Amino acid sequence: MSNSHSIVVALGTRPEIIKLAPIIRLLGERARVVHTGQHYDAGLSKVFFDAFGLPEPSHRIEIGGETRATQIGDTTRRIGEHLADRPASAVVVQGDTNTTAGAALAANATETPLVHIEAGLRSFDRDMPEEHNRILTDMLSDLCCAPTEVSRTNLLESGIPAERIAVTGNTVVEAVRTLLPKNRAEFLDRHAVTPGGYVLATFHRPENVDDPETLGVILDELAAVALPTILPLHPRTRQRIESFGLRAQLGRLQVVEPVGFQEFLALSAECAALVSDSGGVQEEVSVLKRPVLVVRRSTERPEVLGTFAEIVLPGPDISRVVGEWISDLAAVHDRLAGIPSPYGDGDAAELSVVAIDGLLSSSP
Ligand code: UDP
Repeated sequence: MSNSHSIVVALGTRPEIIKLAPIIRLLGERARVVHTGQHYDAGLSKVFFDAFGLPEPSHRIEIGGETRATQIGDTTRRIGEHLADRPASAVVVQGDTNTTAGAALAANATETPLVHIEAGLRSFDRDMPEEHNRILTDMLSDLCCAPTEVSRTNLLESGIPAERIAVTGNTVVEAVRTLLPKNRAEFLDRHAVTPGGYVLATFHRPENVDDPETLGVILDELAAVALPTILPLHPRTRQRIESFGLRAQLGRLQVVEPVGFQEFLALSAECAALVSDSGGVQEEVSVLKRPVLVVRRSTERPEVLGTFAEIVLPGPDISRVVGEWISDLAAVHDRLAGIPSPYGDGDAAELSVVAIDGLLSSSP
């Protein structure tokens, strides 16, 4: 196959790898994966390629650890050069990272058709860099694969014409179904916990970890929960804890390095509840039927609010809401077991590839 018929799939972070994996697998030989190294830590990148059995990226650039402007600028320049050198029939990007925005600009500048997976999410919070990355990418995209009707409406309200939008569901559903381990006991044993007997927490967003007081409150609140809390520590959060001198506050938590996707899913599926500021976790719980307490000012995933997710600010609401769930755990889990995921039935990758083929057949 000549280069110009391949489809560049640009990615750089853990959630992009997880959600693009089902599409890369379906595209097979047509996919040319370009990795920007935005997450350069092996625990946030290589282990996810291995878990999904993805081939090594065919092209790598290194933007990790730089400022946002440099990451976006370098991605645009380097992927732009790559596309000039080896043209592609389309560029596929996912989500809301600096890689997403940079690769979108590179596609635009080289007149390569652009596809945005997980388009149309909006937190309406202009203080979040992710919100700007999403809006920019949606506007430049020739095809917006929106996970839900909510995201489709957001796109229409942004002025994007209906012909450019396909509602596909979210590929996270098939990512979870593919990699959720059947035998979860071995993963729980690693952490010396039992089903329903622990809370799982993740934090890395600037609004939670860049201010010492806020970060301290979150760590105290997690420690106040009546069950043990497992905290796989994102490198960014670990760095902040060290520099703010908060290490002593980790003492009452089960702190571990970031875990692989299968292990994280196993721990999520069997926990009492999650506490997190992650986007992907809010979606995954709707497949795993567990409650998540979102600690953030806003969420771009309103589809799960009131069912799988509650949202609170850092403070006493954290231990209060989790405490309420724990006091009536069987009823909480039973109620969620009967609610379908708003993110689809696990055919989002297939629907996205059908839409991509439709775009390519209509491109000159
Ligand atoms: N995750 C993981 N191991 C961990 C923590 C999270 O595999 O130790 C997964 C989690 O299942 C989710 C994704 O990483 O799919 C979330 O990544 P992150 O919070 O970095 O990004 P976001 O989803 O907020 O964009």
